[in-house]
Amino acid sequence: MNKAHEKRSLDQHPCFHRSASQHWGRIHLPVAPNCNIQCNFCNRRYDCVNESRPGVTSRVLTPPQALTALSRYLEWRSDIAVIGIAGPGDPLCDSERTLETLRAVHAVYPEHLLCLSTNGLNLPGHIDELADAGVSHVTVTVNAVDPCIGQRIYASVTVDHQTYQGHEAAKILLERQEEAVIGLKKRGLTVKINTVILPGINTKHVLAIARKAAEWGVDAMNCIPLIPVSGTPFMDIRTPSDCEMAAIRKSVSGHIPQIYHCRRCRADAVGLLGAVEPVGAVSAL
Ligand code: SF4
Ligand code: SF4
Repeated sequence: MNKAHEKRSLDQHPCFHRSASQHWGRIHLPVAPNCNIQCNFCNRRYDCVNESRPGVTSRVLTPPQALTALSRYLEWRSDIAVIGIAGPGDPLCDSERTLETLRAVHAVYPEHLLCLSTNGLNLPGHIDELADAGVSHVTVTVNAVDPCIGQRIYASVTVDHQTYQGHEAAKILLERQEEAVIGLKKRGLTVKINTVILPGINTKHVLAIARKAAEWGVDAMNCIPLIPVSGTPFMDIRTPSDCEMAAIRKSVSGHIPQIYHCRRCRADAVGLLGAVEPVGAVSAL
């Protein structure tokens, strides 16, 4: 059988399995422009061709445009294992748009793995729909498991058109993340958490996050060093050094398996994890 049509196995996801990342790539469909929370380190950009970090895309695609770009790309690449949605905003802020894309992709490419990356706020109400749409892997970004710390990271959280701030906002987000992760595991999905390491804010809290994630049944943890972005409240916080990151990962690895090869990809990334971006960005196809 042609490699392009082989059913991908769960361990071919290049982000969850380092060995798979040498041979198998992913493609991010940038169909989710909006976000329902505001992180103090985030500045989403939709027109950027020369920055490589989460939240950046050359442009936002509609679901049909994403399908067209995907089919063009998969015509000549047979080494893509995963089709995912990771922004540039939160994929479940406008959940219908994301679900429409996932269902359409799964109908045409049932052999590919489907993946979603979210802050988790709107996840509890969508677990069954995501699983039914074929999603096998979900990443939830959890930067704090104590609202006293979370309130320093999240400027606001919006639920049902109501915006919350401070401790209340962080508490709402955390409660929903916990409910979502436990629900995903009950449905048998593979779940990792991403934790952005913010020096002076949550570095001493990472152990508590790892312990809580393990308690929830999370499969892996991906500690991501902050990329300070100009114009954000955290623009003057330094990025943690490689040494600090190694020490943090080592200190928590006994509680939950760590991911060591994340490339902090754009929301329109394509190809193998190490490929040069954004030349191959899907939104440019
Ligand atoms: Fe940005 Fe993601 Fe935070 Fe939303 S959840 S503000 S897209 S980092
Ligand atoms: Fe994978 Fe990390 Fe890139 Fe996400 S940001 S696609 S987890 S390598």
